[in-house]
Amino acid sequence: MAKYGLLVNVDNCTGCYNCVIACKDEHSGNAHLPIAAAQPVAGHTWVRVEPREQGTGTKVRYSHVPISCQQCEDAPCIEAAQDNAVYRRDDGIVVIDPVKAVGQKQIAESCPYGAIYWNDELNVAQKCTFCAHLLDQGWAEPRCVESCPVNALVFGDLEDPNSRLSQLVAAGNTETLQPELGLNPLVSYVGLPRPFIAGEVVCSDQPNECAVGARVTLSGLSGETTLVTDSFGDFRFDNLDEGASYSLRIEHDGYLPVEKSVTLSSAALNLEAIELTPS
Ligand code: SF4
Ligand code: SF4
Repeated sequence: MAKYGLLVNVDNCTGCYNCVIACKDEHSGNAHLPIAAAQPVAGHTWVRVEPREQGTGTKVRYSHVPISCQQCEDAPCIEAAQDNAVYRRDDGIVVIDPVKAVGQKQIAESCPYGAIYWNDELNVAQKCTFCAHLLDQGWAEPRCVESCPVNALVFGDLEDPNSRLSQLVAAGNTETLQPELGLNPLVSYVGLPRPFIAGEVVCSDQPNECAVGARVTLSGLSGETTLVTDSFGDFRFDNLDEGASYSLRIEHDGYLPVEKSVTLSSAALNLEAIELTPS
């Protein structure tokens, strides 16, 4: 038996909303019983694309994070439901029974990822089903995955070591949303926005030039990393820890080194221009 999972590559996602539209096309106004009642035309986004902006000025990173039901192996929605109105199929997909769940508003309030929506008209909670009705007909992937033009969504069988999904997960650089919740989601992510420190290096004796190829070293509790400034004199250190303190050292041939202590007090820190003086 397959165990279905999804990998979201945030680095690839362009925020085109094709996945959101495909979900609407599949579910809005269309009941797929016994898996799901019809999604309302407005108000539900069983897959939503959250924009995330970090940084200031010219050192800004804009990401899009698609979020749907994470198909938790330890699902609070199952716990919250009465009469087995939410259940896990043998293939791992968590389903809200559209008949048994009628009137059980507590189900809609149970999901820490905000992935469940309340249908006022039908008086029932609803969410992403991984398009289980299509998988049951032999489809290889849900509509959202099929619609993504940049392979930001990879669907597959986690039990099959040869599936692309299994191989990407085995590569070891995936993570889950809010792992501290301990819900063991079957949805994993690559490229989730992480805190960063960025800046640019300029030379005091060359007002219209940036310092290309300057060595910038960041030291912190987790070690030391050295980068070289790019052709715009820019540098950026990713995957840092918000709230942590770091020391920064900049070296460039013919110039005095510069050292700075910095604290990453938010999700991103733009150090702006750091000027080097000839030695
Ligand atoms: S993400 Fe929310 S709706 Fe989906 S299985 Fe987990 S708790 Fe249930
Ligand atoms: S279709 Fe793909 S690229 Fe477009 S928003 Fe969805 S996940 Fe991102």
